[in-house]
Amino acid sequence: MQSQTSTQEMIKELKEVKNIFTNIEKSESKGFSRELEQQARLDLAVSLQMSLDVDWVINKFMEHIHSYLLFDGFAYNCAEPNTQIKYSRQKGHHCSYNLHIEDVDLGKLELFRGRKFAESELVLLENMLTLLVYPLRNAIVHKQAVLLAHSDALTGVKNRSTFNESLDREISLAQRHGQDFTMLVIDIDFFKKVNDIFGHKVGDDALILVADSIQQCIRTTDMLFRYGGEEFVVLLGNTDCERSYIIADRILESVREIELKVKDMLVDLTVSIGMACLNIQDNGESLFNRADTAMYSAKNDGRDQIIVA
Ligand code: GH3
Ligand code: MG
Ligand code: MG
Repeated sequence: MQSQTSTQEMIKELKEVKNIFTNIEKSESKGFSRELEQQARLDLAVSLQMSLDVDWVINKFMEHIHSYLLFDGFAYNCAEPNTQIKYSRQKGHHCSYNLHIEDVDLGKLELFRGRKFAESELVLLENMLTLLVYPLRNAIVHKQAVLLAHSDALTGVKNRSTFNESLDREISLAQRHGQDFTMLVIDIDFFKKVNDIFGHKVGDDALILVADSIQQCIRTTDMLFRYGGEEFVVLLGNTDCERSYIIADRILESVREIELKVKDMLVDLTVSIGMACLNIQDNGESLFNRADTAMYSAKNDGRDQIIVA
């Protein structure tokens, strides 16, 4: 079963405040009294205002819906900012809604269950969705703003200030859980020459490609930061020295393989990597200093290599 609801309709309903609370007769799914349903809608409207966290808003909404509309599972997917929430079974009959308001895409919400959804249940759900769209829009706009403030504008990876905020916290977490933790300091070799020979725009393209290749070599739970001009830092959580070296080697190789061509000339790109594995005396500063010193040793030893602190 498939049902698409345009947000235009939702907006219309929201504007007609009277309608919001008089449409209740339509929903006969569980024989709710009008008063009870009015109360439920008010409760939902109030509770959805309580957080600007997208996951929280969606989960709160679904939790509320579940108390009077049975379903086996649900999925929420939003492209920008990338958000996926899945709960339980994703099989059987489903109803799906592409949510949007004004020019903001609010993602797609799908509900699943073994038994078909009745028309009256869909009416009830659509009624309730009118209460979700504005809090969800606020949460999405908030998440986008937070992500933007934490990212580097050119490469899209996390920026220096996020690195400063995250480092000590990540180290404390690793120490508390007795987990391995590794830092890689990665600097592009002879990058000034790239700018000098090919121009600043090609230099920018090279930075984007290098950031992408590093990102491809690490897990989504690892963290990549642009630390400065052509210098990146990677934090590998729960990864021992041996495994980290393999990852660093993969980064070295994938940067060598970047094919950036300018008028048939290949831009030669390599990186030097300094690696430091967290030890018991380390704090953020000492770990960074050890990895950074190792990176400079890699430069002095001829570049395009890894040195372990
Ligand atoms: P080394 O191998 O010793 O690291 O040499 P290098 O040339 O990479 O190092 P150097 O510090 O001399 O030069 C770094 C260059 O990176 C100079 C600077 O113009 C360039 N750079 C820094 N940020 C950007 C940027 O955002 N875009 C571009 N195109 N270039 C940048
Ligand atoms: Mg450099
Ligand atoms: Mg540098």
